[in-house]
Amino acid sequence: MLLKYKYKLKPHKRQAVIISNWLEMARKQYNYRLAERLNWFEATRTPVSACPLNVSVVPVERIYQNIPEFRVQTRDGRKKDSNGNLITRKGDKYPNIINGYVVWETVQLANLAQTKKLFPEYKSMHSQVLQDVIQRVQTTMDNFTKPDKNGKTTGRPKFKGRHYYNSFSYPQLSNANIVKNANGRFCINLPKIGLVPFVYNRSIPIGFKVKIGTVIRAADGWYISLTIEDKAVPLRRAEIQPTEDNSKGIDLGLLHYAVTSDGEFIEVPKFFRKSEHRLSKLQLRLAKKLKHSKSWKILKAKIAKLHQLIARQRLDWQFKLAYHLFNDCQVIFLEDLLLANLVRRCKAKLGDNGQFLPNGQSANSGLNKSLQDAAFGKFVQVLEYVAWKLGKRIIKVDPKGTSQHCWECLNKVSKSLSERWHSCPKCGQELDRDYNSALLIQKIGLLSTQEEDITSVKTAVSFSLAEESRALP
Ligand SMILES: [Zn+2]
Repeated sequence: MLLKYKYKLKPHKRQAVIISNWLEMARKQYNYRLAERLNWFEATRTPVSACPLNVSVVPVERIYQNIPEFRVQTRDGRKKDSNGNLITRKGDKYPNIINGYVVWETVQLANLAQTKKLFPEYKSMHSQVLQDVIQRVQTTMDNFTKPDKNGKTTGRPKFKGRHYYNSFSYPQLSNANIVKNANGRFCINLPKIGLVPFVYNRSIPIGFKVKIGTVIRAADGWYISLTIEDKAVPLRRAEIQPTEDNSKGIDLGLLHYAVTSDGEFIEVPKFFRKSEHRLSKLQLRLAKKLKHSKSWKILKAKIAKLHQLIARQRLDWQFKLAYHLFNDCQVIFLEDLLLANLVRRCKAKLGDNGQFLPNGQSANSGLNKSLQDAAFGKFVQVLEYVAWKLGKRIIKVDPKGTSQHCWECLNKVSKSLSERWHSCPKCGQELDRDYNSALLIQKIGLLSTQEEDITSVKTAVSFSLAEESRALP
């Protein structure tokens, strides 16, 4: 079981200076290493469909020229095989380029020594923190080049501006790093920075081990997020058999935040609208200020804090809502929303004469914004966490057709987004469309038997057909 606990850091002035220096150094290193990777990536690739008119400025030979052919191991490795022999030894040689592909992660890790030689300020930085930067570049490039299980990749990685690189990580902290200083104040011992006082408002649960510590810059100061793990605690999923009485279906939507199959309509609280109104007012004022002037900076900080407030209000409300929903049931059925697909941009449509045709993006933009605002993805995470905590269960169902079919007779009643009412011509059901969806989600969720089994309207239809044929003599 992995958890993340976040604490407020209270660094001394001297420590705060070190932390922000490190962050800036990590950012520069990140951008430099990313550039290395992108240079190579672009120099060695051509689109399949066309011969490029613009060719990479950096010739590929020049990139290879800077990479040593072999890496020589400087120390004996720690890993042993089954006979107790070391797998890797000092002096072992490894190729850095295999079939023309550069083993970038190891090349860059080995090259950090060169960085420290050229820029001595990097010597003050903890080596693992610096190595973690390379790991981050690797992850970013992996996300860009290797498709995930849906065949999707992220966009081309971006270089990070000063305000877009906000954290660095110690990959190997332990419980021993949480100590009390001479004044009896709780501190986190960050190697090469020292004992940094922090607000230890929530103790590490017994049995959990601190793994990673990530120092984060936020609008109101520094935080540390500790990743803690207990291998003895399995991600136990409660084995509760859902029945009609102990479960409920939930339909997440835009008009109402959520509608349950008990007929409860949950609205977005008013204080969000209030904060948003304040935000838009501040942003109007900001637009009139001279960029980078003193008053502009003050206002900018105010806006950042308001954003933080809104995020916190939302999370708090989502937790309260999750506990409320689980109050009178054991199992919650939920649509398996792949929200990423909903917020993606519409594909550009090209006309015969090469002009762009309307593709519905502008109509979609409003919807996208409120979808992101509602932050359903986060809410589902919160629900999963609360379910785990209470020993209750979440079961996801396939969202396909849940807004179109009738919950009672499964007949398809097509309706557009603007139609809010569901009236079934077959069985005469008359109710709100979201309420219908919630009831339908519960109905098809109840058909699921195994842990991983995702049921859909289709399952329900085939199930009821089978029942019918059995009933007939
Ligand atoms: Zn019906």
